[in-house]
Amino acid sequence: MIRKIVGLHHVTAMASDPAANNSFFTKALGLRRVKKTVNFDAPDVYHLYYGDETGAPGTIMTYFPFPDAAPGRKGAGEVGATVFAVPEGALGYWAERLQRFGVQELAEAQRFGAKRLTFAGPDGDELAIVEDPADTRAGWANETPADSAIRGFHSASIRLRDIGATAELLKFMGYEQTETEQNIARFRAPGDAGAQLIDLEAVADARHNELGAGSVHHIAFAVPDRAAQLEVRQQLLDTGYQVTPVIDRDYFWAIYFRTPGGVLFEIATNEPGFDRDEDVAHLGEALKLPTQHAHLRPFLEKHLKPLGGGVTRRDSSGKSYPS
Ligand code: ZN
Repeated sequence: MIRKIVGLHHVTAMASDPAANNSFFTKALGLRRVKKTVNFDAPDVYHLYYGDETGAPGTIMTYFPFPDAAPGRKGAGEVGATVFAVPEGALGYWAERLQRFGVQELAEAQRFGAKRLTFAGPDGDELAIVEDPADTRAGWANETPADSAIRGFHSASIRLRDIGATAELLKFMGYEQTETEQNIARFRAPGDAGAQLIDLEAVADARHNELGAGSVHHIAFAVPDRAAQLEVRQQLLDTGYQVTPVIDRDYFWAIYFRTPGGVLFEIATNEPGFDRDEDVAHLGEALKLPTQHAHLRPFLEKHLKPLGGGVTRRDSSGKSYPS
């Protein structure tokens, strides 16, 4: 069994309009944009990262906004809801806030005894917020007050026609099945890093999903460092998974493999992090390009649609201001 996975690292999804995406995550949800870069494989498309102050693993929602992307079709074989954790007592604040921002499909739901707010992102992205009293992460209290700010991920749901093989995989990855409710089985990663829960949702009769704007592209699990990643890679290979070589993603190293239900999993390192090429005070402000695409800067600076506001930073007094 794998013992090096500590929870979620990031969730990467598809979007259409980059400015709408940026505004939603930085303003409505109050996350910090911690990196503005481009897609390694399609450098004319942004790769935007949102998270807490430093973009800590377990807080990072990332997007590929393809301006012409067709909407995704929800179904089996994909990540459904990505769920954010907020402090105890903050759900009322969020219900009011999301309403004020005109967020679509806002509703209350219940899962494993906890009330949650479910809502849609700008491309119909499936999102939710839940109170988690046990979560002690600080969150990025800039657009939102400290007693309500999103702390990071609480969990992600994966929709599958048959959850059996993925349940086995999660157990192999070190997760423990903790609870079952109707068609949902909950799994928990060891430790207390936060972002430790995965829900597997059995949807036997659902049609298969189609990837598009608003769909999650892949889900990444965190390991502390490169040595742990190599260990995990070997264990997955030994079990028969086809795993990519280690790929340098500038802010972490990544390996990918396709799971039995069709969902793309990644194992990402907690090193080196988003302050690798920017001070923490200025994360997400400048357009950062992977080395192999650096020569495209003049073209990209002209071609990439401006994101508008949404960068926030703290000055030395701790006061925040938009830039
Ligand atoms: Zn990734």
